[in-house]
Amino acid sequence: MAEKPQTLAAIRGMNDILPPASEKWLWLEGVVRRTMRRFAYRNIRTPILEHTQLFARGLGEATDVVEKEMYSFTDRADKSGAADHLTLRPENTAGVVRAALEHHLLQSAGAQRLYYMGPMFRRERPQRGRYRQFHQIGAEALGFAGPEADAELILLAAELWRELGISDWHLELGSLGQPEERREHRAALIAYFEAHKGELDEDATRRLHTNPLRILDTKNPAMQPLVEAAPRLMEHLGEASQAHLRAVQQMLDAAGLPWRINTRLVRGLDYYNLTVFEFVTERLGAQGTICGGGRYDGLFAQLGGKAAPAVGWAMGVERVLELLEQGGNAPEAPAPDAYAVIAAPDALAPAMRCLMQLREQGVAVQMHARAEGAEGMGSLKSQFKKADASGARYALIFAGDELAAGEVSLKTLRGDNAGQQTRQKLGDEAQWAQMLKRSNA
Ligand code: ATP
Ligand code: MG
Repeated sequence: MAEKPQTLAAIRGMNDILPPASEKWLWLEGVVRRTMRRFAYRNIRTPILEHTQLFARGLGEATDVVEKEMYSFTDRADKSGAADHLTLRPENTAGVVRAALEHHLLQSAGAQRLYYMGPMFRRERPQRGRYRQFHQIGAEALGFAGPEADAELILLAAELWRELGISDWHLELGSLGQPEERREHRAALIAYFEAHKGELDEDATRRLHTNPLRILDTKNPAMQPLVEAAPRLMEHLGEASQAHLRAVQQMLDAAGLPWRINTRLVRGLDYYNLTVFEFVTERLGAQGTICGGGRYDGLFAQLGGKAAPAVGWAMGVERVLELLEQGGNAPEAPAPDAYAVIAAPDALAPAMRCLMQLREQGVAVQMHARAEGAEGMGSLKSQFKKADASGARYALIFAGDELAAGEVSLKTLRGDNAGQQTRQKLGDEAQWAQMLKRSNA
């Protein structure tokens, strides 16, 4: 006898999204599409697989994502024996910039406002708010140098929170300046820590000349006073960088959007300069960043293209949906308008024809179908139970007498008129379909 095959489970950190949760996803995606349209951002879709090189060059070799979190593999060799090194995208900014360069988008069509939604992959330790396949919604403004693009993007995210009904967040704002300002700050940091060599722990001593910025991230409580007093990048910004940040702040103020400066805001990826920002909530535990972004004027050139200024953000869909569990505007998933009760198999064909007419008129109808290969359709009682459980407001009853007269019975299941029953003409669906629709309830 053949052995029963073992059932398989999904990969750790990668989630199935089932109904009714998937209804919330659909709603969120709809809100995003409509909001993006109101800001004149247009949709872009890039492949989920890219050459590993894109991320190594785009995100920086020394980032956590590139060093240890990417799902990379070598493709099958082609006839010449050469094989590609491919990676499941850990983020989509590099892919969007690659696509813009490859299709000469900025040259042929001017500056671009773009958005995307889709799965990303990072091999992190799965925990609340942190998964190995997760989803991002992202917006990128390519070819815009002025602080108005930064401010517009931040306001776009804030408008999304408003539409979604999420209010428990704050906006943190900072500036990473320009590369030369970062180099000056690094030198100042090294000088400062050298002057306090005796107070450094083992880790910090090791990082002093390799990566002094990482000392600022230390978890060692004994080091905190030293780190607190260390020179801050935002104090090393030149006039132009400061003016850019001030202009962003003024536009946010004018729009009534509160912000707070975080001088320690460092984004995980190498490509940022000038404005950086995060929307953070206290309601999600340790994984409280729901949206992060900033300016990345260096990325086009870093990917071998003609330099172009750009700014963008990405939000974590799973985290936003978890916030929506705690409150927000997400509606209940809609029930069908009507449930079709089918008395006997010979009613199936006329019922099917009628239901297609109703659906063409925009009515949502769930048809009774047999779970087991039985001869009959199941008792009317059990069918009405299912009709009730479906949440439908009407039952359509396809049964002998009515069908013989070219009619169907329409029974109201819910509301003031529950129990009321009328007859409707088959073939005339357009005449009576409208009253079944939710908008007419
Ligand atoms: P974090 O500090 O939480 O690791 P990050 O700086 O790595 O975030 P980004 O690369 O800026 O995140 O991605 C933007 C957003 O995507 C994050 O703010 C977060 O909401 C979401 N995100 C990032 N990594 C994950 C993940 N592994 N699982 C779920 N959401 C994630
Ligand atoms: Mg991360």
